[in-house]
Amino acid sequence: MDEQDLIDAALTVRQNAYCRYSNYRVGSALLDDRGQMYVGCNVENAAYPEGTCAEANAIAAMIAAGGSAIHTIVIAGGHDDIEDCTPCGGCRQKIAEFATPETRVVLLRPSGHTRSFPIDELSRCENRSCGHAASNLALLSAIQRFRSSSVWLGSLMTSACASM
Ligand SMILES: [Zn+2]
Repeated sequence: MDEQDLIDAALTVRQNAYCRYSNYRVGSALLDDRGQMYVGCNVENAAYPEGTCAEANAIAAMIAAGGSAIHTIVIAGGHDDIEDCTPCGGCRQKIAEFATPETRVVLLRPSGHTRSFPIDELSRCENRSCGHAASNLALLSAIQRFRSSSVWLGSLMTSACASM
């Protein structure tokens, strides 16, 4: 298992992203310290922020399988094509939870090249270059439009709770 295998897996799982609000597809593949690979894609939800990120889903798969530490995590995101996509603040926190000082975060770039960071450098990476954070804003406004233009499940749930 090498970095290219992780990149290929991230690109493949990215195709399964459920991203009807943002149209921003993210795939992530991680290798744990036992050499096992896990993948995740983003799964959006009309009830913001109940959607989950690709990185979070890959980490959840690792934990569910009994893993405990991230060796390498690859992230590939963008609308149609790959764009510069860095983990959102929440995912940085989630990666840090299961990182070691040797953990590498590898971001796929539009050029097809990669950008690789140790975890402590990623936490200093500025948010304004964060494509993923930008997608979260786009997602939020898309969901707000959706809620105002159709029957939204959340309003049904609220009324059900209010009647209890
Ligand atoms: Zn995230």
